[in-house]
Amino acid sequence: MLNIIPIPAFEDNYIWLLHLNGYAVVVDPGDAVPVIEILQKLNLTLTAILITHHHSDHIDGVSDLLRHQAAPVYAPQYEKFDFEHIKLADGDRIELPDIAQSFRVMWLPGHTLGHIAYVNEDYLFCGDTLFAAGCGRLFEGTPAQMQASLESLKELSPNTKVFCTHEYTTKNIAFALTLEPDNADLQTRASVVKQLRQLRLPSLPSNIALELATNPFLRCNQASIIKNSHAEKSDALSVFTAIRTLRNHY
Ligand SMILES: [Zn+2]
Repeated sequence: MLNIIPIPAFEDNYIWLLHLNGYAVVVDPGDAVPVIEILQKLNLTLTAILITHHHSDHIDGVSDLLRHQAAPVYAPQYEKFDFEHIKLADGDRIELPDIAQSFRVMWLPGHTLGHIAYVNEDYLFCGDTLFAAGCGRLFEGTPAQMQASLESLKELSPNTKVFCTHEYTTKNIAFALTLEPDNADLQTRASVVKQLRQLRLPSLPSNIALELATNPFLRCNQASIIKNSHAEKSDALSVFTAIRTLRNHY
């Protein structure tokens, strides 16, 4: 059975570590130190590094990790990196036999233009695209690009577990409640996450079903969100653009 553990880094990042039978794969190692600590503690051999996008808090640990243990690095072909890597495009598949997983690559422009995610029928590693009850900021892409990316994630199996790379859930839920104060699923999620965070436990992973029920960025057609977005028009893109801007200033 695959183990997936969050390694906290910086203020609110999670570096996800997947391990099975003594082998490990790490996603978006922005810092090598806590990853090497866990590898040594659990006596794991690192066999691959997966990168979703070029931001430093997702890649700055790569070079030090490779000095600790040589391993292939997978990264989007649409972005530039100063370490050797295998370039991945939309629809590519990667095989990770040591941990008995294979992933399909999804190109999800929006947060950055070249951002990719790694998905299979059980797991989604989506970097800074989809967050629990939120989505990434639009540093490079347009609202239309991000919305199209999120739409493609809505098509995944509802049971797919979602591994985001930041602990933003508490604030995202507070913001979501300003748009949908009467959403019972969102209210329940707020109390569950509050308890988890009081115990200093991660609010993640999420899953697609929970995001469909509570994430305002996936629910731009809901009457309450349309009304509270104060968008000039009620089409999904106008509402998405309005609530993304509201969230930026929340
Ligand atoms: Zn980022």
